[in-house]
Amino acid sequence: MTQHYYLGIDIGTTSTKTVLFGDKGKVLSTHHIEYPLYSPTPAIAEQDPDEIFRAVTETIIGAIKKAKINAEEIKLVSFSSAMHSVIAVDKNGKPLTKCITWADSRATEWAEKIKNELNGLEVYRRTGTPIHPMSPLAKIAWLRTDHPDIFSKTYKFIGIKEYVFYKLFGEYVVDYSIASAMGMFNLNELKWDKEALQIAGITEEQLSKPVSTTHYLTGLGQEYVETLGLSKDVPFVVGASDGVLSNLGVDAIDQGVIAVTIGTSGAIRTVTNKPATDPKGRIFCYALTENHWVIGGPVNNGGVVFRWARDELAASEVETAKRLGVDPYDVLSDIAARVTPGADGLLFHPYLAGERAPLWNAHARGSFFGLGLHHKKEHMIRAMMEGVMLNLYMVTLTLQEIIGIPKQIKATGGFARSELWRQMMADIFNQEVIIPESFESSCLGAVILGMYALGEIDDFSVVSDWVGHTHAHKPNQDHAEIYEDLIPIYIRISRILENEYEPITAFQEKWTK
Ligand code: ADP
Repeated sequence: MTQHYYLGIDIGTTSTKTVLFGDKGKVLSTHHIEYPLYSPTPAIAEQDPDEIFRAVTETIIGAIKKAKINAEEIKLVSFSSAMHSVIAVDKNGKPLTKCITWADSRATEWAEKIKNELNGLEVYRRTGTPIHPMSPLAKIAWLRTDHPDIFSKTYKFIGIKEYVFYKLFGEYVVDYSIASAMGMFNLNELKWDKEALQIAGITEEQLSKPVSTTHYLTGLGQEYVETLGLSKDVPFVVGASDGVLSNLGVDAIDQGVIAVTIGTSGAIRTVTNKPATDPKGRIFCYALTENHWVIGGPVNNGGVVFRWARDELAASEVETAKRLGVDPYDVLSDIAARVTPGADGLLFHPYLAGERAPLWNAHARGSFFGLGLHHKKEHMIRAMMEGVMLNLYMVTLTLQEIIGIPKQIKATGGFARSELWRQMMADIFNQEVIIPESFESSCLGAVILGMYALGEIDDFSVVSDWVGHTHAHKPNQDHAEIYEDLIPIYIRISRILENEYEPITAFQEKWTK
């Protein structure tokens, strides 16, 4: 049987990855190239759009070369990319700014203003992007007031994927998925939102043309036909954002299945068949297709908390682990496992890095509660692992108001290397937890969406045959009962501390040398 070839490209914040897939989602080769994040001040987080474009073309060439196939046989190229980026370009498509990433916080004051003075909650409820400095809405408003020189010269405000497509095809198109993460796209009407455009101070002509995530372009520029070796007619599917495609790539698209990722940061996402937002503005709603909407919340405090515990609380254990050639994180998990669930009444709020969902408070900070003379270091480590999970559970409670009780959790990310942490997830959520094989799930999601776009598959059901799983955990009812008692205390303390975060960060800024 002849093999078919498909390219999935994921333009991420730290690197671009291209994966060449064969039939049934089989990975034939991958190539990734990293690029720097420019951060001359803590608030700035920018990248060079041309460095990223080069990474896209070079990873395509690299993946094809590694697989030793004829590039002309590739059937489609489909894209995933990070959300919320903004590049101001002039009439000739030349960037007037760097690529301002989601992590850039210079629009903080504008986000506050939109939220408090400019009807922000209603704008969010129509557009699905929480009002936050990451949102292109806030960033464009900020460029208007703080960089009027650039603003007045700008022909269009585009994201990184639009930049890549413009370079390859000379057209400005933005898929509904990336558009839905810009804070200016009316999810029900699938059009730019007038009030949001007014806040940003732009017209819809200054944004790309919104198209379905299944939209594709052909007629690759001759220059790229030559450098990439692809056929001129190969369809380039615009695809969607990395988050929603990752749900597809781990087979978490059925109603009631939630995907939880805990890497350095974390996220929870689930799919509904129509747009849904939250009356309090706590969750996002981004498009996968017109009939698949991904709702959820991003959290800052995932594995970064465990990393902090490793570096600051367990230096001597880490040293020993290194000497013995074992992973220090495994040693930390073993230490935490000496303590029973609930850490003998020690609770940890994991907000070391401020927090997005569920608090949406950049001033949030971490705390231990309930500490007594009977507690030891192992309690602290276990409480920190539990705290990360309890916070994610709090985000899920918000989603439950929309989707009801979930029926299954698909979990991915570095945390899943710890058996203790995986079981803890099942016990705290009181749900079955499945760890899917998640090899480059956003690239796989892009390719599946691309195949759907071209009519090679009728729906997304193939993915369940293509993606297996490595572990499955059922909740331990004795543990679940303990957590059920702990969860209300955790939530009450979150509320009590809400007004104390700002004073403590102000103190930290004033007195930290
Ligand atoms: P990223 O989010 O940066 O792409 P990963 O998904 O690999 O990275 O997640 C990294 C995090 O995973 C680390 O900060 C750590 O908290 C966690 N982690 C890594 N290895 C282990 C392990 N063996 N046990 C538990 N947690 C781990």
